[in-house]
Amino acid sequence: MRRVSIFGATGSIGQNTVRLIEQDKDAFDVVAVSGGKNIKKLADIAKSLDAKVAVTSEDNLRDDLKSLLKGTNISVYAGRSELIDAASQTVDWAMSAVVGFAGLEISLALAQNSKTLALANKESLVCGGALLKNTCHQHGCTLLPVDSEHSAIFQALNGEDIKSVERILLTASGGPFLNASRDEMARVTPDQAADHPNWSMGKRISIDSASMFNKAMEIIETKELFDFSSDLIEVVVHPQSIIHSMVGFNDGAIMAQMGPPDMCGAIGYALYWPKRQNAGVERLDFSQLSQLDFQPADTTRFPAISIAHEVMAKGGLAGAVFNAAKEQSLDLFLEGKIGFLQMADLVAKTVKSLSSFDDQSADKMDKIIKADTWAREHVKELTGYQK
Ligand code: NDP
Ligand code: MG
Repeated sequence: MRRVSIFGATGSIGQNTVRLIEQDKDAFDVVAVSGGKNIKKLADIAKSLDAKVAVTSEDNLRDDLKSLLKGTNISVYAGRSELIDAASQTVDWAMSAVVGFAGLEISLALAQNSKTLALANKESLVCGGALLKNTCHQHGCTLLPVDSEHSAIFQALNGEDIKSVERILLTASGGPFLNASRDEMARVTPDQAADHPNWSMGKRISIDSASMFNKAMEIIETKELFDFSSDLIEVVVHPQSIIHSMVGFNDGAIMAQMGPPDMCGAIGYALYWPKRQNAGVERLDFSQLSQLDFQPADTTRFPAISIAHEVMAKGGLAGAVFNAAKEQSLDLFLEGKIGFLQMADLVAKTVKSLSSFDDQSADKMDKIIKADTWAREHVKELTGYQK
C-alpha cells in the first residue's frame, strides 16, 4: 500500500484527488488530509479515506473539528505550525493543492518528506522555484506537475531529448472574456469573472483564468519546472481546451496531449506515474468534436502575459512579488474595491518597483516572505487601501 497525504483536500483539486483515491482504496494508506475553513467537508473526507490525521489551517476550528471526528481514531491537528507538522510526515506520495502563497511552505515540507510530490500549487514554483527544486533534489523527491498544461508538456517530453525542444505551446482557453472589449472587461463582477466556460475550478484560479494571470503564472511555472529559456514559451488561445499543451521539436514535429477538460486526467497521471491507470475521465468522441480553434493571445486586453515575461527577465524575487501583487489585487477586486482591469495595472506597477530590493535572490524562505509582504503592502499603498 502506498502512504499518501492530500493538502488542500477540501478544494477543487483536493476533492478530485480524494475521489480517485476512494475509487482505489486498497492501494492507498492515507496519512494526512488538510483543509481550511470547511471542516465539515474535511471531517467527511478524513472519515471516508480513514486518514490518520485531519488538519485544518484554522487554529480556532480545532475544537469543532475534534467534535466532528469524535469516536474515530483520526488525530486532529490545527493551525499553521501543526499544518506544517502534518506535511512533515513521511509518505510515498503527496498532493500539494492548497491555494495561493500559503502553499509554498507546505510544498517545501512535503518535498523533504515525500518520495513523490504532485504539485498543483503553482505559486510554489512561481515564488520559490529554485528553492523548491533544490529541496526536492536534496531529499530525493520526484516533483510531478498536476497543472493540466504542465502535465501535458511532461507527457509530450516522455523519452525525448530536452535539447531537441524548439518551442513550448501553452494552450489557454481564453476564459469568459475572450471576445469582450476592454470597456466591457472594466465593468465585470467577480461572479462573471469566476464563470469559466470549460474548467470547473476554485474561485481564485477561475478569476485568474479570466484575466490570464493564471496563464502568466503557468508561463513562469513552465520555465521553472522544465528549465526552458523563456523565449521558447508561447501562449496559444484554444477555446475548446481539448489540447492541454504542445511541445515542438527541432525536426518540426509537434507533440500535443489531448483529453476532455477534466483535472482527474492530470491528477491520475501524477498519482499512478510512471504507469497509466483509468481515472474515469470521459473519452473524446471525434465524431462530435467538429473543430479545434487557435488564435494568438491578445496582450493588450490581457497584459498579464507580458508581465510574466518581465518577471522571468528579472528573475529572483520577481516571481514572489508578482504573485503577491496578483493575490492582493484579486482580494481587492473580490471586495469590490477595484475593477477587473485595475488588477493588471497594480501588478505591473509593483513588479516595476521591485528594483528597490537590494538582495534579489530567492534562495531562502524568509527573503521570499519579505518580498511577498512588501508587494502586498505596495499594492495597498498604490490604491490607498492600506490598513
Ligand atoms: P480551492 O480554492 O478549490 O481549494 C483550496 C484549498 O486550500 C482548500 O482545501 C482550502 O481549504 C485550502 N486553503 C485555503 N487557504 C488556505 C490556507 N491559508 N492554509 C491552508 N489551506 C488553505 O483551490 P483549487 O483546488 O482550485 O486550487 C488549488 C491549487 O491548485 C491552486 O494553487 C491552483 O492554482 C492550483 N490548480 C488548480 C486547478 C483546478 O482545476 N482547480 C488546476 C491547476 C492548478 P477550505 O476550502 O477548507 O477553506
Ligand atoms: Mg492550468
